[in-house]
Amino acid sequence: MNSNTSAASPARDSTAAESSSDAKPDEVLLTVENLRTVFDTDDGTVHAVDGVDFTVQRGETVCIVGESGSGKTVTSESITQLFKSPPGSIADGSVVFDGIDLASRTEDELTDIRGARISHIFQNPQGALNPVYTVGWQLVEAIQLHRNVDDDAAREDAINLLNRVGIPEASSRLDDYPHELSGGMKQRVMIAMALACQPDLLIADEPTTALDVTIQAQILKLLRELQADSGMSIVFITHDLGVVAEIADRVVVMYAGKVMERGSVYDVFESPSHPYTKALLECLPGHGSLGGIPGSLPDPTAPPTGCRFADRCPYAVAECTVGEQPVFESVGREVQNEGIEHEVSCIHYRSTDDPSVLDQLGSDRSSTPQERPSGQTGGSRDSDTDRDGDGDGDGDGDRGVTRE
Ligand code: SF4
Repeated sequence: MNSNTSAASPARDSTAAESSSDAKPDEVLLTVENLRTVFDTDDGTVHAVDGVDFTVQRGETVCIVGESGSGKTVTSESITQLFKSPPGSIADGSVVFDGIDLASRTEDELTDIRGARISHIFQNPQGALNPVYTVGWQLVEAIQLHRNVDDDAAREDAINLLNRVGIPEASSRLDDYPHELSGGMKQRVMIAMALACQPDLLIADEPTTALDVTIQAQILKLLRELQADSGMSIVFITHDLGVVAEIADRVVVMYAGKVMERGSVYDVFESPSHPYTKALLECLPGHGSLGGIPGSLPDPTAPPTGCRFADRCPYAVAECTVGEQPVFESVGREVQNEGIEHEVSCIHYRSTDDPSVLDQLGSDRSSTPQERPSGQTGGSRDSDTDRDGDGDGDGDGDRGVTRE
């Protein structure tokens, strides 16, 4: 299924969802609180992640979604501090994984946790696999890095892993080099390597973006099946709301280093509340917007005061651009997924305000955002420079959710 054509409502497989949530319901595996990650650059300090909070329960999938430059990749890399340091560093906050505060761990301690309990898969499997070693050699190395098994046992495990991720003739595929595999096969190998040590948490950063839609659907199905088998939790990074609808239990919407909205996939898709979330959904095929969201992300070296979306928000008022980010308000709609709060950071959800003004999106309100009062900080991000702060080095100004 083309993920970009079916995102109006979540389509998560109910069996997988039930199985994963049966793992250890309501037990929090990961708690990220007030996370602030910065990068010291020649242009100044990039505030890539600036006060992010979310939790991940055992057996659930949390999707972090937003445009390139929203800080979602840096958020995921901050969990095990995968970014290069310097220039990157965690300036504040905590990342508590199964009772362990990862933000205060040494590099050696984090190395023990990476791969053994928290695994990562990335967008580009070709770049992640070493072209001069066979996939079998690399799988065996991943297994033996964290488990004390001999070569024969590790090779046997490698064959079982390739079988598990759906690679046919696994024993002969072990002797293939990465260039002999298709893109989908390479991503399956990466997933096999990530599963080698039966992680509690899999962090998947745009793992299907480079794949065609058929292979993408196969990989998402595979991840759901593996999760249902193992009960592992998944943090899934994507700009594609179609993928979110396919795989998420919980959604965290990020913009310019901040969380704008969070809630169950059902609540966020059925009742999108933040203007940014609404605008992202409007960009999906068949949902109204042809040109993406007007404007660009703010300069991450000089983030604006108040709501960071104000320069692009058709509902911004002067109050939006002063002080701190608007506090999170419970949206208070009917909760379909008990236990997952639906919260939004927008002044129109305060008890003194009327959120129904936001229901007029695309009708009688201009899409031209309000101008900030003179003297406010917060220049726009230059979309042609590599200062998007998400650590992907692209700086491509990608709108993220666009028509294909
Ligand atoms: S109305 Fe104000 S607070 Fe709400 S999203 Fe727009 S700019 Fe932000």
